[in-house]
Amino acid sequence: MPELPEVETIARQLQKYIVGKTVSGFRSEWHRLTEPEPAELFGARLAGRRIEAVRRRGKFVVLDLEGGDALIVSLRMTGQLLFHPADVAAHPHRRARIAFADGTALEFADIRKFGRMAIVEGHTLDGDEHARRRTGDPLHSHLGVEPLSRRFTVRWLRELLQRRARATIKPLLLDQTAIAGVGNIYAIEALWRAKIHPLRTAGSLREDEVERLHEALVWALRKGIRLGGASRRDYVDAKGEQGRMQREFQVYGRAGEPCPRCGSEIVRTVVGGRGTFHCRRCQRAPRRS
Ligand SMILES: [Zn+2]
Repeated sequence: MPELPEVETIARQLQKYIVGKTVSGFRSEWHRLTEPEPAELFGARLAGRRIEAVRRRGKFVVLDLEGGDALIVSLRMTGQLLFHPADVAAHPHRRARIAFADGTALEFADIRKFGRMAIVEGHTLDGDEHARRRTGDPLHSHLGVEPLSRRFTVRWLRELLQRRARATIKPLLLDQTAIAGVGNIYAIEALWRAKIHPLRTAGSLREDEVERLHEALVWALRKGIRLGGASRRDYVDAKGEQGRMQREFQVYGRAGEPCPRCGSEIVRTVVGGRGTFHCRRCQRAPRRS
């Protein structure tokens, strides 16, 4: 599932490819894609609109439209946004196509069909709780702090961990209403770097561990962006190319291999329903109370 670095990679590419282009048509090939809005109405709202910017918020790709609205794309498990400079044969799992007036197109492909699109008022994207409730935005409710923004400081993280002191640290990092954009892969890599066991409670982290976790999250996410994201199964960027982060995993997917730091065995467990990897020695298990 695409996380912050994968979505950021796509958004940066689309920022180069489609800003300034005008939508000439929209076709949906999967009726649930724009739910609850009918695809025809959705297409009518997009037609003739110019793309003013492309950015990322959490794990969402956000296309800012002329006039103040935004098209939000949730890639979920297997969604891909593919830019095509010319007319090409349709992707076998194409669910939608946005055509531009200059003959180029943006294709949305999605094997598992969990991806969704919505058009929302631009101002509902950033913190306006009342506007959010009013519009009932299905994709964009209650997103937490961006971990690569200035708001994400050691102090902010410490306060989050204190507020949610009884929460298990790994699922807390995946909670999009707390920190937006971190998913399973980057949480696992960050906890390894910070030498924190995934089952620790948030409130049990010492000050030096909070500082390490903050540094490690930023490190993991920046590394993911630098390497164009992680392609394990379905993720490709807007050019249809794979990322390189999967070659650089320290512990993710490496059960049975030696820890790159201490040489002890990396083990796989399940925490909060998600497969998790950690080093037996450098990430000490919490004592049972
Ligand atoms: Zn180790």
